[in-house]
Amino acid sequence: MSGRICRTADEAFQAGWDEPCDHGLDPGECSACCLTDAEIARLVLLLSDLASPAPERAAA
Ligand SMILES: [Zn+2]
Repeated sequence: MSGRICRTADEAFQAGWDEPCDHGLDPGECSACCLTDAEIARLVLLLSDLASPAPERAAA
């Protein structure tokens, strides 16, 4: 039996990380799967917005 059970989130992450992408390539090497600069820039904007502190509620 070659299948293995992922017991922790770290193991599950690593198992997925080690998998090739749908094109049989390392996802980081695959031009179809890796993010473009434009996509990364957009994600940075979205995430920085999420990461900013919530606006203070007006005092009641
Ligand atoms: Zn791919």
